[in-house]
Amino acid sequence: MLALTEKTIRSAFVNASRKEVTDITLPAWFDEARWDDLDYLGWRDPRIGRRAYVVLPQLEGDPVGILLRPAEAAPRSRAQCSWCQDVTLPNAVVFYSAKRAGASGRNGNTVGILICEDFECSRNVRRNPPLAYEGYDLAAARQRRIDDLRLRVAGFAAST
Ligand SMILES: [Zn+2]
Repeated sequence: MLALTEKTIRSAFVNASRKEVTDITLPAWFDEARWDDLDYLGWRDPRIGRRAYVVLPQLEGDPVGILLRPAEAAPRSRAQCSWCQDVTLPNAVVFYSAKRAGASGRNGNTVGILICEDFECSRNVRRNPPLAYEGYDLAAARQRRIDDLRLRVAGFAAST
């Protein structure tokens, strides 16, 4: 994804109050983020418990920032991340809920989604998939997973 500035990030949120946006603390690694290897930006607030954020590039238009709250209960053990759909489960997957944007959210409507606990999706899709057969095109398979992740993330941004 394209590099984002703190200013862009703070102005991207569609389901957070002005106060919630002011309270956002960027991740400690923000200045060293490797944007080329990220399909979206996601982090847990280092100061406020039970609050996380994603900033999702859209296919067209500005990135969309979404405030998320992790569910108290862990999902059942075989949960799969809705975005990277990684089948090897290298990390925990958490059920996050997001208030919908605008009036719908103010009326209490939320949308829920299972995502990698610490937003490892970009790393997961960049790992080489297991060799399916002799001559299997690894590079193409990897690129396809990256493209699929980007589409799912953009789809979620558009639906919130
Ligand atoms: Zn994931």
